[in-house]
Amino acid sequence: MERRKEPICQLIDALALAAEAHRHQRRKDADASPYINHPISLLHILSIDAGITEPSVLCAAALHDYLEDCCGQAGQPSVEEGRSILLARFGQDVLAYVDAVSDDKRLPKQERKRLQVEHAASAPFGARLVKLADKIANLRDIQASPPADWPLARRREYFDWAKQVVDRMRGTHASLEALFDATYAGRP
Ligand code: NDP
Ligand code: ZN
Repeated sequence: MERRKEPICQLIDALALAAEAHRHQRRKDADASPYINHPISLLHILSIDAGITEPSVLCAAALHDYLEDCCGQAGQPSVEEGRSILLARFGQDVLAYVDAVSDDKRLPKQERKRLQVEHAASAPFGARLVKLADKIANLRDIQASPPADWPLARRREYFDWAKQVVDRMRGTHASLEALFDATYAGRP
């Protein structure tokens, strides 16, 4: 598909692809909220809270869980096909940012979590912005509407792991880091 030139059109296209790809998915909160609410939360944090309007960052935020949570699932493109779609439709920067925020689901969960901490500092700047917004959104969700089966210890462990990731990215964006710290201060 031809690449859109107008930034607002790129963002609408990114949201349309995310909405389509996540359409059968739900978040883990007790109400099983529509999955697309989560990428929209990241867009709100980046643009409204932090004043970030760079189109490639916003498109990557809209699509940040596309490769990890949609591609490779039944009826969806493979991860490699998904990467080709991102490149053709949104360009190299968006692909690089989404790649950098995607875990390799073939690895065991503890290894994936360790690698997020290890790779955080070396991720491209745009990817670090998306990562910061993702951690803020997830901490807010755990405070306001946590997965029903998560005991206190697991919620706390998630807060502390998210802080380890963010601590490796200090100096990336003062407002986002302050927002993360304010959210972390509400650790259950
Ligand atoms: P998961 O990776 O299973 O779940 C967290 C992820 O789920 C988030 O990163 C987010 O990912 C997504 N998500 C979907 N809905 C919500 C929601 N409502 N609120 C928050 N996140 C949501 O969790 P972890 O394995 O990371 O568990 C957290 C900690 O607990 C870890 O440190 C782990 O070691 C520990 N643990 C404890 C257990 C226990 O019973 N005590 C058992 C297993 C782990 P995204 O944005 O990418 O969709
Ligand atoms: Zn996410």
